[in-house]
Amino acid sequence: MRRYNGCSQILVTGGAGFLGSHLCERLLQEGHQVLCVDNFFTGTRRNIEHLLDHPRFELMRHDVTVPLIVEVDEIYNLACPASPVHYQHNPVQTIKTSVHGAINMLGLAKRVGARIFQASTSEVYGDPDVHPQPETYWGRVNPVGVRSCYDEGKRCAETLFLDYHRQYGVDVRVARIFNTYGPRMHPNDGRVVSNFIVQALRGEPITLYGEGLQTRSFCFVDDLVEGFVRFMRHDGPLPGPINLGNPREFTIVQLAEQVINITNSKSPIVHRPLPSDDPRQRRPDIGLAQETLGWEPQVQLHEGLVRTIAYFDELLRAGH
Ligand code: NAD
Ligand code: UDP
Ligand code: UDP
Repeated sequence: MRRYNGCSQILVTGGAGFLGSHLCERLLQEGHQVLCVDNFFTGTRRNIEHLLDHPRFELMRHDVTVPLIVEVDEIYNLACPASPVHYQHNPVQTIKTSVHGAINMLGLAKRVGARIFQASTSEVYGDPDVHPQPETYWGRVNPVGVRSCYDEGKRCAETLFLDYHRQYGVDVRVARIFNTYGPRMHPNDGRVVSNFIVQALRGEPITLYGEGLQTRSFCFVDDLVEGFVRFMRHDGPLPGPINLGNPREFTIVQLAEQVINITNSKSPIVHRPLPSDDPRQRRPDIGLAQETLGWEPQVQLHEGLVRTIAYFDELLRAGH
């Protein structure tokens, strides 16, 4: 395999999505050739429009549930809707994307000898009874609920990644990503940060699900992408899955208050029913990432929100 710090041909699946578009940008900045593959289910051309004329960037419309024959040195497998509203819209397609998509990308990695990264999720921990969550915790996941297509699909993908490693020696990197936010989140994707910001900027009520006392830990996208790249560069013995996220934990009410303060919004807070299987708390233990990758987030919530709000403000003014 070609070494990572040379110029590599890198495949990014889900490259037109929120995280994928930032990753493509970062890999181009590092001098690599980037092949962005996306079926545009939740991603948009707008996210990568500024990259389309780049001489080292190529876009391919393709669904990862279908085999893909390309020659690449590395693969980042991000294809999968991430917001509960989107992944529950067509749950069968969601689980197929995670499972068939993983099999196809692992088959590709095996054939060409590419190192392959999997965007897994904190949802593999379910509604956790261990807090914060270390990688050694096996989770508490409902296998038959409305979130299962995503949670169990991602768990099965992790199993496939580790089995392709053990059985075929495929060089895998599995990251468990905790809630991440930033510019290019889809304005209607239903995730809490984009929902609150769009509602606050439009002066619409801020929809707090339940009492809003459930917690999440929010990582700014630039920090996360730095973690991805460091993990891919890491050459030591395979550490197993690694948590990537910001360990500062906030209640959803606190998030709403920060968004209202920064936007100076007059939006009232309204309560809506708590969705089924909504985890009560979530915070990563990032000890392993700190130790193995020397990585920890640099951007704290207030600064990240200011940057994200500026993006949405411009987007809404442009009529999107
Ligand atoms: P996103 O919805 O913005 O991006 C997902 C991308 O995958 C979209 O461009 C979509 O069109 C594409 N896609 C979906 N199904 C596909 C298929 N079958 N074939 C090809 N492309 C397909 O979401 P995101 O936040 O950028 O998430 C990217 C990845 O990171 C996902 O795998 C998600 O599960 C994971 N993740 C994200 C977060 C987060 O907080 N953002 C947290 C945990 C895990
Ligand atoms: N695959 C792919 N691109 C490749 C090689 C394989 O999409 O370059 C797909 C292949 O179609 C298969 C899957 O990856 O469905 C798993 O491949 P593997 O070689 O592990 O399994 P097999 O082909 O033996 O079923
Ligand atoms: N949430 C909320 N209002 C919204 C959207 C989400 O109160 O408009 C809550 C949701 O119930 C959950 C948290 O915010 O407790 C994070 O939700 P999100 O969908 O962003 O991510 P996930 O539940 O997958 O962590």
